[in-house]
Amino acid sequence: MIPMVDLKTQYHQLKAEIDTAVMDVLENTQFILGPNVKALEQETAEYLGVPHAIGCASGTDALHLALAAAGIGPGDEVITTAFTFIATAEAIAYVGATPVFVDIDPQTYNIDPDKVEAAITPKTRAVLPVHLFGQPARMDRLKALCDQHKLLLIEDCAQSFGADVSGTQTGAIGELGCFSFFPSKNLGCYGDGGLITTRSEEYAKRILSLRNHGSEVRYHHDVIGYNSRLDEMQAAILRVKLRHIDEFNTQRRRVAHRYNELLAGTGIVTPHEDGHGRHVFHQYTLLSERRDEIMKALQAQQIACAVYYPIPLHRQKAFGETLSHLQLPVTDEVAARCFSLPIYPEMPDEHIVTVTNVIRNAIA
Ligand SMILES: *Cc1c(COP(=O)(O)O)cnc(C)c1O
Repeated sequence: MIPMVDLKTQYHQLKAEIDTAVMDVLENTQFILGPNVKALEQETAEYLGVPHAIGCASGTDALHLALAAAGIGPGDEVITTAFTFIATAEAIAYVGATPVFVDIDPQTYNIDPDKVEAAITPKTRAVLPVHLFGQPARMDRLKALCDQHKLLLIEDCAQSFGADVSGTQTGAIGELGCFSFFPSKNLGCYGDGGLITTRSEEYAKRILSLRNHGSEVRYHHDVIGYNSRLDEMQAAILRVKLRHIDEFNTQRRRVAHRYNELLAGTGIVTPHEDGHGRHVFHQYTLLSERRDEIMKALQAQQIACAVYYPIPLHRQKAFGETLSHLQLPVTDEVAARCFSLPIYPEMPDEHIVTVTNVIRNAIA
């Protein structure tokens, strides 16, 4: 059996460090907003190159708290992609704003800057790109557009921890960056967790308050906030894993490039690295007219595979009937043909060879 991700091998490699870190938390018994959360916030801020990084309960909450801190609300429009996990747009709906979905680039599957420009209205407050599958969106063009139109640029970095654009980390380019530590993400904990980055001291102050019941001083509540804290045990685990993140991402790139090499000449469209930023391959995603046949053959050999994402957000019931009439031809076309293969830093070369042999046989 070849799984999509193998969290156990990584745990076993780091077991001594992780077990010690968890035991220390148990001994310390300071489970909420203790020393590990504080240290992780400092260490991630330093790694990502931002003055402020604030832990929270999930990637979904990171997006929600970022939008709330920026004062985005009812009557505001936020331009984003429909080819993403639903959390990106759910967060926009949580604050009462309207997600405006635009089409994607046919090669990278990231939001298309030309389509963003065409969708700007007087109600637009922010642009929310996703660094999909670990490849940075076209931040140079998006930033120029946002500067020109005085819009906030909020990055969904849930899949891109450690990716950079010319040396600047994702999450350090826009006004706000939102990360997820869901176990299968490039930097994952052993439960739920998230992080918000910002260069703005004002936003940082608001987020610190919002994540903890709108309170800066205990039992003084200035605004209605939330219970959205990263817990101490997860922070301790993340501090261990943060020390290895560059190695994890280098290994993900090794797996991806080996797949590229072994799938060359098959007619299957392998991931396009546009060279704008460094892709950290949260997912390895292919396009083929024969997707269903290929996936069936993989499953028959106990090889996991998955479609991210089969139903784009404008076609989700949650966003209502009106949006299903939106014309997003590239998004629809990619959703109909894409599929993702197993990828994780520790994936052995034999597995990559096995997976690609099964694919080659299936389409021979
Ligand atoms: C995983 C993910 C999220 C949500 O993160 P959670 O920690 O699961 O809440 C948001 N956006 C994208 C693009 C994701 O992949």
